[in-house]
Amino acid sequence: MGYLFKNISIITMDDERQPVIISDLLIEGSKISRIDTNIPKMAHKVIEGKNLLVMPGFINTHTHVSMSLLRGYGDDLELFEWLSSRIWPIEAKLTKNDVYVGAKLGIAEMLLSGTTTFLDMYQDMEMVGKASQEIGIRCHLSRGTIYTGIENKDNEALKQLEELIDKFHDYDEGRIKVLAGPHAIYTNNTEFLKAQLEIAKRRNIGVNIHVSETKKENEDAILSLGKTPIAYLDEIGLLDAPYVVAAHMIYLNKEDQKIVKNKKIGIAHNPKSNLKLGSGIANVQKYISDGIKVGIGTDGAASNNNLDMLSELQYASLLQKGLNLDATSLNAYETLKMATIEGAKVLNISDRVGMLKEGYDADLIMFDLNQPHYYPIENSHISKIVYSGKSSDIIMTMVKGKTLMVNRELKTIDLDKTYNEVSEIIERVHKEND
Ligand SMILES: [Zn+2]
Repeated sequence: MGYLFKNISIITMDDERQPVIISDLLIEGSKISRIDTNIPKMAHKVIEGKNLLVMPGFINTHTHVSMSLLRGYGDDLELFEWLSSRIWPIEAKLTKNDVYVGAKLGIAEMLLSGTTTFLDMYQDMEMVGKASQEIGIRCHLSRGTIYTGIENKDNEALKQLEELIDKFHDYDEGRIKVLAGPHAIYTNNTEFLKAQLEIAKRRNIGVNIHVSETKKENEDAILSLGKTPIAYLDEIGLLDAPYVVAAHMIYLNKEDQKIVKNKKIGIAHNPKSNLKLGSGIANVQKYISDGIKVGIGTDGAASNNNLDMLSELQYASLLQKGLNLDATSLNAYETLKMATIEGAKVLNISDRVGMLKEGYDADLIMFDLNQPHYYPIENSHISKIVYSGKSSDIIMTMVKGKTLMVNRELKTIDLDKTYNEVSEIIERVHKEND
């Protein structure tokens, strides 16, 4: 038993094929087993493809999914004030179960908007792992760390990272992965960063970190360390981890860019969060032209304020055109690559997801094109998805061959129950504030 899509429009994101084909696509077990015309109908669930389109699921390379609980809390503040006066005080009140409920809420939003993989950074990551295990989404967990100077606490954070690896890394044939997650250079010191690097190297995992998110971060680094954040991370060896995902990377000079390219760092570009926090606009067209891997992330729902990748990639493309005064900047196909196969490269999993290809895991989404904003329907599907697409038109989200959302209905999350749990948490946290 598997799924057979018949005569369906397919954006494969596979450069060895035409960008868009009309074909049959067969899924057996967790994998795409065939893309071909005239695949015979057997004991499969058949989906007739008229006015439907399938493509790889979106890969969100940077988020803090449980921050969905904090949506709308502390809007219109710049990053440092936002973190210290709003976010960190309320996060200190969240219990493990709150993080779990926040993860369910965020994953529900992601599945309904076509995200099949996300890289997360937060505290109590085992709760995000538990939610992902149960729900079936592909998830990379990074244990966010902030150096406190209190020995017990800092050692405990390192211990939790090791436990997270023991419990979740490579779960379900690699559907879940674990990374070290030092929050940033301004919230960690050299010794603590090196301790996390040591774990990353010994356990062969990646490192996920915020870098050069604001001008202030760069100016402070130059004042206190005499170099840019990236040059500093290079100097202390952090960029020699098995792989590195650096979020934001707005303020890179030419030397930084050279380091990023040579060390094969993957960048997670978060255009909406960077705009909303007044942080700036990363010139990712320049990075991509230089051969640097760049994916797209939403960041958390407290600084965006949603986890909708389609909206994110639309901002990404339009911003580059405006920034570079060049309509050819970040064209539709390049942008879609960032949200799929390039994102998979950033997360080091491009050998199994990010494209629709025989032998790849069946992580895909299906659009209903029978909407006014896709007509005329005959041409340029890629630009339609990128420039006029709406995530509410996604009617199927599949991870490893399992349908997690069909016809806008979530199969593995009780949404009403989750809403009630969220309301209870918010009520309790506000009471504690009084
Ligand atoms: Zn972030």
